Amino acid sequence: MIPFLDLKTINAHYKDALLEACNRVITSGWYIHGKECEAFETAFANYCGVKHCVGVANGLDALILIIRAYKELGIMQDGDEIIVPSNTYIASILAISANQLTPILVEPDINTYLIDPTQIEQHITSRTKAILPVHLYGQTCQMDAINQIAKRYHLKVIEDSAQSHGAFFNNKRSGNLGDASGFSFYPGKNLGALGDGGAITTNDNDLAQTIRALGNYGSHKKYENLYKGTNSRLDEIQAAMLQVKLQFLDQEIAQRRVIANYYREHISNEKIIVPLVEHQDNHVWHLFVIRCTYRDELQSYLTQNGIQTLIHYPIPPHKQAAYKEWNSCSYPISETIHNTVLSLPISAHQTLEETHKIVQVLNVFNPCKKEEQ
Ligand SMILES: *Cc1c(COP(=O)(O)O)cnc(C)c1O
Repeated sequence: MIPFLDLKTINAHYKDALLEACNRVITSGWYIHGKECEAFETAFANYCGVKHCVGVANGLDALILIIRAYKELGIMQDGDEIIVPSNTYIASILAISANQLTPILVEPDINTYLIDPTQIEQHITSRTKAILPVHLYGQTCQMDAINQIAKRYHLKVIEDSAQSHGAFFNNKRSGNLGDASGFSFYPGKNLGALGDGGAITTNDNDLAQTIRALGNYGSHKKYENLYKGTNSRLDEIQAAMLQVKLQFLDQEIAQRRVIANYYREHISNEKIIVPLVEHQDNHVWHLFVIRCTYRDELQSYLTQNGIQTLIHYPIPPHKQAAYKEWNSCSYPISETIHNTVLSLPISAHQTLEETHKIVQVLNVFNPCKKEEQ
């Protein structure tokens, strides 16, 4: 079986360095908010090209704390609206709801799966305070168009960079393309820890300081609480693991690109639509997502042929039970995407042999089902 993602093999490549880093933390006697977290924050801020990086417990917290900080700074308040793509992972939307703000869903471009900038303006109201573009599957959104709209309407731009570590847009990296950015270091992400982790990047001094306090019980100074904060910290072990993995991120992205380019050049089955890439540097291929009208049949066919695939994501946010107020709303592009997408195996350590086999099997797929619609 070719696995969808083999974390054991991936982390085995860095085992010695990871063990050494782990040992360094164990013997330091200091496990929360110490030198490792600080060193990772500095390294990741430099990597993204920003002034500040604040480590937090996970990617959802990163997004929640950005919005929470804007509320504490008086820039947003309960009932305000944030524009977000209708086809994202639920966390992008939960971060808005968790802050008592209203998510306003905007449809994506069917070819890139990214929020369609031409659909944004019609959804802006007097309560709109931000746009939250999601660099879904690892490709950066059209940030020039999005930032122009934001500037015209005085909106903040909050990037969801949970899938796009290292991706560029016009020579700037994800994390440096808006006012603030949320990252996840969930083990399966392109920069993955060996547990949970997350970070915020920004060039805004006040925002960074506020987020730092909010994630530490609202405290900017020991035993003094400025805000009703929360506990969201990147621990020393994960920060140490991430310092090791960060050194190999660009190399891993390059390896993913080789696989993605092979897929794009050699998948020739006309029943399969390969993803559109705006610019080679803009995509770090967290996921390689194809579309097919016979998606479910294709998935079982691949399983029978020893290829594991996943669906990102089977149910659109507006059809989730958690958001029943939207269940009768229609987002046709998003629905088409959710009904037809399939994620192929891709990772830095997938062999060329495996990639060849996947393409070969895909190219002889011949659905027996009659044409739908
Ligand atoms: C993974 C992910 C998140 C959440 O990250 P966690 O670390 O799992 O909380 C947010 N947004 C997107 C788009 C993601 O893929």
